[in-house]
Amino acid sequence: MTTEQQNQVKRRHCPVVKVCGGCQVQHLAYEQQISIKQKNVEKLLGGFHQVDPIIQMNDPYFYRNKSTATFAMDKKRKVISGIYQKGTHQVVSIDQCLLHDERADRIIVSIRDMLASFKMKPYDEDTKKGLLRHVQIRTGKKSGQIMVVLVIGSTVFPSRKKFMKALLDKHPEISTVVMNVNTKKTSMVLGDREQVLYGKGFIEDTLFDKVFRISPKSFYQVNPVQTEVLYQKAIDVANFKGNETIIDAYCGIGTIGMIMSDYVKKVIGVELNRNAFKDAIQNAKRNGTKNVYFHHQDASEFMQQMAAKKETVDAVVMDPPRAGSTKLFINAMVSIKPKKIVYISCNPETLQRDLQDITKKGYEVKSITPVDMFPGTDHIETVVLLTKK
Ligand code: SAH
Repeated sequence: MTTEQQNQVKRRHCPVVKVCGGCQVQHLAYEQQISIKQKNVEKLLGGFHQVDPIIQMNDPYFYRNKSTATFAMDKKRKVISGIYQKGTHQVVSIDQCLLHDERADRIIVSIRDMLASFKMKPYDEDTKKGLLRHVQIRTGKKSGQIMVVLVIGSTVFPSRKKFMKALLDKHPEISTVVMNVNTKKTSMVLGDREQVLYGKGFIEDTLFDKVFRISPKSFYQVNPVQTEVLYQKAIDVANFKGNETIIDAYCGIGTIGMIMSDYVKKVIGVELNRNAFKDAIQNAKRNGTKNVYFHHQDASEFMQQMAAKKETVDAVVMDPPRAGSTKLFINAMVSIKPKKIVYISCNPETLQRDLQDITKKGYEVKSITPVDMFPGTDHIETVVLLTKK
């Protein structure tokens, strides 16, 4: 980056905002970003209930705990690292992103600068030559731990030991390094093969008083500061009394369910992704949480089975992916007759669709609270409370 670009970053102006495409509203003042998102949520969801003001982030920069850099050669055959231009395989060269944890970007720049002295080349997807494809870094906000995943496009990593020594000498703050092999022509960052080169192969981080394990492939909310704000809001609106049995649907590594387990009698988590499910079980053990039970299954299928067995629960907390939930899930959920549904959504459009369905089936919306989990981008998270009429 040029000195001028570095100064832009210091002034919280992204020098590549127009070419990168990762952020849609980064060029606007934070208040303006919020105002746009607020209007958008109101347009989509205002028909169900009044929308609370968005819960904003106090410091809306450098919040991401997961950063991925891609390596390539520029036209002058100089190694660059940065972010894929949205929708393309063109790398936008950048030393520092306004969303990334600053420690992560410093390590990425060091790795890029080390490549030449190790005669290492970035991997070229078309010719399948070269070595380094991506570096993915995950940081624990509270633990301070750092995991570096070196994604290589070859099964051999020449001078690996020397490279590792140089990296750890320069960045003793790194907790663990994992090598991941990805030789496929794909837009997926991580391949199937993994080898721990240093440390434990995972990091841990804390949300409230619970410790969670984060492996290279685990899903973990990318904005840990706002994740606590979001979960606290969900706990507040749910207003549990302590004797409830609840379902945590689409539970990921079990974060919501485990945190809510202190407020209820029993939590039943369901998650489709096998790695996330395994992490959830580990996390429950690690924290000594005894009243949480995880199931590895499709959430809709699981709800249908519960409905068929005429089982009931007091509340359902659901946090589906961007595509939202399904008619099958919703039909089964309403026949289980939970008194409360807490719907956490990262996509107000599919949330609108699903709320239309749920509110036709005997439930009413009691509150809608957006939480800004993704400053700089046009994404927004929303917590909705529904109760049985
Ligand atoms: N509640 C978690 C994860 C939310 S992300 C958290 O706050 O961290 C959505 C999760 O839904 C992902 O872990 C994804 O693997 C899972 N998922 C996607 N489709 C699913 C399905 N059909 N059934 C169950 N889980 C699913």
